Amino acid sequence: MINPFKTAQAQLLQAAEIAKLDSNKIEQLLFPDRYVEVSIPIMMDNGNQKIFVGFRSQHNNARGPYKGGIRYHQDVNLDEVRALSFWMSFKNAVVNVPFGGGKGGIIVNPKELSAGELERLSRGFVQKIYPLIGPETDVPAPDVNTNGQIMEWMVDEYKRITGHPKALAAFTGKPLGKGGSEGRAEATGFGGVYVFEEAIKNALGGVVAGGSVALQGFGNVSSFFAEAAQGLGFKVVALSDSKGGIYNEQGLDLTAVAAHKKQTGSLTDFAGAKNITNAELLELPVDVLVPGALENVLTADNAEKVKAKLIVEMANGPTTPEADAIFAKRNIPVIPDILANSGGVCVSYYEWYQNMNNEAWSKEDVLEKLSKQIKQAFNDVYELQKKYNTTFRNAAYVLAAQRIIDKM
Ligand code: NAD
Repeated sequence: MINPFKTAQAQLLQAAEIAKLDSNKIEQLLFPDRYVEVSIPIMMDNGNQKIFVGFRSQHNNARGPYKGGIRYHQDVNLDEVRALSFWMSFKNAVVNVPFGGGKGGIIVNPKELSAGELERLSRGFVQKIYPLIGPETDVPAPDVNTNGQIMEWMVDEYKRITGHPKALAAFTGKPLGKGGSEGRAEATGFGGVYVFEEAIKNALGGVVAGGSVALQGFGNVSSFFAEAAQGLGFKVVALSDSKGGIYNEQGLDLTAVAAHKKQTGSLTDFAGAKNITNAELLELPVDVLVPGALENVLTADNAEKVKAKLIVEMANGPTTPEADAIFAKRNIPVIPDILANSGGVCVSYYEWYQNMNNEAWSKEDVLEKLSKQIKQAFNDVYELQKKYNTTFRNAAYVLAAQRIIDKM
């Protein structure tokens, strides 16, 4: 079992060594400032009380309030939450938003709860952590298995308990019309393509417009990435979901794929493409590979077999350190998650800013700002990649760590 917290620490230490960063500050950054474990008693629909366990980890707030999602999953554990809060500090610093890193989670399979139980659990979590969070302190958001509705309950509970005049800004990822921002749904996928656009401008990996793209996943992030990549003239040849993938080397009709998925509940057996496994998808002869679903899918076992010329990490933590070393040796550039998928938190910052200042920006404004900000982040990382002749991941960590250290 790969411990994500150990992976995160190893990534930082490697980058710190390359750029000879302040070792005392790096030592501090290896550990979260604080984390809590809370028990949340919930009255279930059957009249029995059940205790759920939740976590919140606050990694570093030198650049601004802690910021990061809350996930609901049966496998959530403290090391995972600590790692995710760690990555948030660096992601926010790479894309240059004035936030630190935080993350939370509850050990629960939300599909086993009724709507009422889910609401009581979400409000119960806020009752336990409200003294630690707030618009100027720590701003949670949705993550795996949490959504705008859950944020709405949490904001409401936070406001009820604290009466904070800017309670709306205590959580992001809220629904539109309830304090949410235009463009948030598209932000991560489109943001990844804005980064990708800069990468191909520089012919990274020798990739040029018109090439082929294989995407693992067809959820929020990967479907918007696919749409925007097609808009840039790329051919999306493979997609997948948890049940398997589909492949057509001539390119897929995304609208028809979405309709098929809606109708049948899976991508499998889509007319005009052949069925493949998720493992096969990762090894297709394509120009660009985009892991956009799960962590730890590119490992020492398959990294030698990957044929893509460029990898864009849209999921969090899809590449193990061993696979990373293999890609570096094979000269396959990997645009790291903390840069490629930072569009989501960038627009979360815009949401927080709009809430704090009673503003409402249009989708065009949001996406234009995002494009500018995330492309700048790519170019800042690219400069360091060239300067240190290292991987994009190391360069992104050097940039982020230095920005955090400057404020510590
Ligand atoms: P999502 O739930 O909308 O989509 C997840 C996709 O992964 C679905 O298509 C699902 O079918 C697929 N999937 C699930 N299990 C799988 C399996 N075993 N094999 C292959 N595919 C599988 O989630 P999302 O919001 O698109 O997030 C995807 C990734 O991007 C996650 O790693 C998430 O942490 C990361 N991310 C998301 C955001 C965001 O704004 N949504 C921001 C940054 C990072």
